[in-house]
Amino acid sequence: MPQPVILSDIGNVLVAFDFTIAAQRCAEKSPFKAEKMFHRLDGIKLPYENGDMDDETFVREAIAALEFQGSVAEFRQIWCEIFTENVAMKQTLARWAGKLPMHLLSNTNGLHKEYLLSTFSIFRHFQDGVYSYSAKCSKPGDEIFIHTIERLSLDPALTFYIDDLPANIATADRLGFHTHLYDIKNHGALESVLDRWLGV
Ligand SMILES: [Mg+2]
Repeated sequence: MPQPVILSDIGNVLVAFDFTIAAQRCAEKSPFKAEKMFHRLDGIKLPYENGDMDDETFVREAIAALEFQGSVAEFRQIWCEIFTENVAMKQTLARWAGKLPMHLLSNTNGLHKEYLLSTFSIFRHFQDGVYSYSAKCSKPGDEIFIHTIERLSLDPALTFYIDDLPANIATADRLGFHTHLYDIKNHGALESVLDRWLGV
């Protein structure tokens, strides 16, 4: 019998994130104010997430753009320490762990992906994933969803996709996924929809 699958976004679903934490820490070692700081990365952040720039190049160019006076190791640490695990989501997923496959689909970069998966236990629930930087395309485009269907052998009609951004949900809807537009402040809504979908 074909089996239902959970496919989940990462940012503001499995972990909350706040770039202002990193900007404030960078500001201690940079001539720029925290508020304006990360606009200086606008030109390189997207190519990095789309896999057109590797970790070393991004870090080198970011340090130059921010005129950051700390070390490469310091910058890498600051860049990654912006996440907080979503405990309510971890508890929900724990109820389904081992009972159905769970996979990730995220617009992210190499440093964040490695950091997230090795830091937060919520990721133990997931068997596999597709990431923009390695797929070399990103949400909300169709291409990364089609790549995900093929790579993870998904049947969209049996796949429950969770994301916090309406544009990503719209693409997934159009391609036939079951979807839930997640609001981290209303976790209970996900619980009831998921229970209904899985026939609990
Ligand atoms: Mg997100």
